[in-house]
Amino acid sequence: MTPSPKIFGLIGYPVKHSLSPLMHNAAFKALNLDARYGLFELKPQELENFLKSLSQKNIYGLNVTIPYKEQVIPFLDRLSAQAGLIGAVNTIRASQDKLEGFNTDGEGFLKHLTQDLGFSPEGKTVSLIGAGGAAKAVTVYLAKAGVKRVTIYDTQEEKLKDLLAHLKLNFKEIEFNQAHSIEGLNINNSDLLVNATSVGMKESDPLIVSEGQMHRGLLVYDLIYNPKETKLLKLAKEKGALVSNGLGMLLYQGMLSFEIWTGEIAPKELMRKALEEKLC
Ligand code: NAP
Repeated sequence: MTPSPKIFGLIGYPVKHSLSPLMHNAAFKALNLDARYGLFELKPQELENFLKSLSQKNIYGLNVTIPYKEQVIPFLDRLSAQAGLIGAVNTIRASQDKLEGFNTDGEGFLKHLTQDLGFSPEGKTVSLIGAGGAAKAVTVYLAKAGVKRVTIYDTQEEKLKDLLAHLKLNFKEIEFNQAHSIEGLNINNSDLLVNATSVGMKESDPLIVSEGQMHRGLLVYDLIYNPKETKLLKLAKEKGALVSNGLGMLLYQGMLSFEIWTGEIAPKELMRKALEEKLC
């Protein structure tokens, strides 16, 4: 007999500010599922033992965040094609005999972009700041959706070079460029600007672009959702650009994870409400 409730949760370090428990617990309740979503803040030396003892803890699924999205991979029995292509895992499905890794970040971003914001990536020019885990997921999905050109800037040049090499290898028909500064992103000629860094989360963070780079007809997507309006989004709005924070991406990646774990259709509006109530 299955002990109850089934446990799901988020692993990372730190995790205590996560909004994921709100949306997943609301969804479990609405669907009458005997399940709970919790937070597991793990030190690096605790990761392996934790993953090897999921069944003892009655854990059936996990989300994975910084800094473990790549580090969990050696402990998994199978990777989805998407997680393999992105090279990072944000969702684990656990059963008695195996751990499977998925990545729903990129698909979550793309669903929000196309379904809610009405942006069609095909043939578009994109500027992106950041070459970390989130940028990997976003660029892979933008490439799959047929963008024409992507220019990326990251202060960590080696990381950026690795990401560009990976993208060029897998999407030969798309133009990928390295920018050596924010100015080099050529935002003035872009249709979409994505901030995939954490610059803007703190009140004291600087504005990540310069004022002259914003223009009408540009969509500025900041992956940050707390605060709801970063300095970047405020400026973009003032200059007549369209804007979005990362709450929609958070919602869609969570819905996709929920569906992987439960096989049920995620209750979108209820999960959205749970997130928005907290951020009002
Ligand atoms: P990450 O792995 O730390 O990557 C961010 C990269 O940006 C790092 O290489 C960082 O370099 C670089 N960077 C920092 N400041 C920069 C600057 N001023 N100019 C250019 N590059 C800069 O982080 P991540 O996991 O990719 O996450 C990035 C952001 O996305 C975070 O705010 C995260 O919360 C958000 N996110 C949102 C969602 C969502 O669902 N909405 C999902 C995933 C991630 P350093 O390491 O030297 O700082």
